[in-house]
Amino acid sequence: MADSKLCAGCQRGGEDITDVAWCSDCRELVCKECARVHEKMSPPHKVVPMKEI
Ligand SMILES: [Zn+2]
Ligand SMILES: [Zn+2]
Repeated sequence: MADSKLCAGCQRGGEDITDVAWCSDCRELVCKECARVHEKMSPPHKVVPMKEI
C-alpha cells in the first residue's frame, strides 16, 4: 500500500509522482508541475513547499 507521499492529482491520472508541496486550498499533495497549475488558478491556491510545513 502506498504511503501517500505522491501527488494526488497525478495519482488520479495514473502517474506516481513524488510530491513536493501541499496545496492548502485543495488540502492535497501536489508535485512541482501541479503546484504551478494550482498557483495559476483564480483565485490562486496557496501552495506550501514541503520543507516549510
Ligand atoms: Zn502532479
Ligand atoms: Zn489547489
